[in-house]
Amino acid sequence: MIDESKKFEKTMKAVVFENRKISIVDVPIPVLSKNEALVKIDLAGICATDFALLNGYHNFAGIPGHEFTGVVFSAPGRADLEGQRVVADINSGCGQCDICRTGDQRHCGNRSVIGIRDRNGVFADFCAIPLANLHVVPDSIGDEEAVFAEPLAAALEITRQMEVSEQSRVVVLGDGKMGLLCALVLRQKTSNTVLVGRHPDKLEIAGQQGVHTICSQGKSTGETSNVEKGKFDLVVEATGSPDGINEAIALVRPEGTVVIKTTSFEKSVIDLANVVVNELHLIGSRCGDIQLALDFMKKKVIDLHPLIEAVYPLEKFEKAFAHALKKGSRKILIRNNNEIKGQA
Ligand SMILES: [Zn+2]
Ligand SMILES: [Zn+2]
Repeated sequence: MIDESKKFEKTMKAVVFENRKISIVDVPIPVLSKNEALVKIDLAGICATDFALLNGYHNFAGIPGHEFTGVVFSAPGRADLEGQRVVADINSGCGQCDICRTGDQRHCGNRSVIGIRDRNGVFADFCAIPLANLHVVPDSIGDEEAVFAEPLAAALEITRQMEVSEQSRVVVLGDGKMGLLCALVLRQKTSNTVLVGRHPDKLEIAGQQGVHTICSQGKSTGETSNVEKGKFDLVVEATGSPDGINEAIALVRPEGTVVIKTTSFEKSVIDLANVVVNELHLIGSRCGDIQLALDFMKKKVIDLHPLIEAVYPLEKFEKAFAHALKKGSRKILIRNNNEIKGQA
């Protein structure tokens, strides 16, 4: 009889967050639950949520990472998926509750979220991912684009939540990774898209792709005199700061909309009277539809490559993480060198 264990190296390299510490360890390759596929991770992105997790968000302990592209290594019952390049929706609902039954896994109260909540993530050689969450990446989309599927879907979510037309006057506050993506996406809807930020090099990336940019030069946007107040139909708040919402409210026109992307640990204090008197719409906006992101990338209307600052191997994760933590850094990626040893 063949010893199955000899055929396949059953451990993998993985980044583990526990007690606010990062370690890179050998752990067992995930054992698949029902309706899951084993995905070999090729490229993964570090995002602000990962910093929050290290600092105790969701009491997370385990393998982080939720932005990735990889190849399906095994998919029991779905041989058609094996060998395919994939990205994934990060939310996995319980499948039983009323919300899941409406087809909305993203808001299931019992959901697990890849690399964020009750489910290991992608800063590892392999990750177990529910089959239902996988999306095959078309050949025309490279790995360094596909790795943006998750944050791009979050930016595109705005266009699913509200109508943005060529007449819309739009301002995005914050030139972080999310703000940049939001500005680039909204520019496809209206040429009246302004990005306000503090980092000339990042504003330049948006500027080169047709977005009007304003550098707030270290001041809060509210103090920036050259941003017209009370004039914008849509203000996207992506500053990452609990005060960003007040800057956004100052810029939106009466009956206009503020889309809130910032999730801050610190609570925001807002003057609701302004919201009431001016009849503003405040919309919270989080994850989006991964398929929408893939369809968008296929059109090649925005160039994602300038958003990448550096690529590190998994073994140098700590260095990569420190780099990603630097203020004003662009996207830091982790590339896996996960050759399969002893595979049958
Ligand atoms: Zn993210
Ligand atoms: Zn559910």
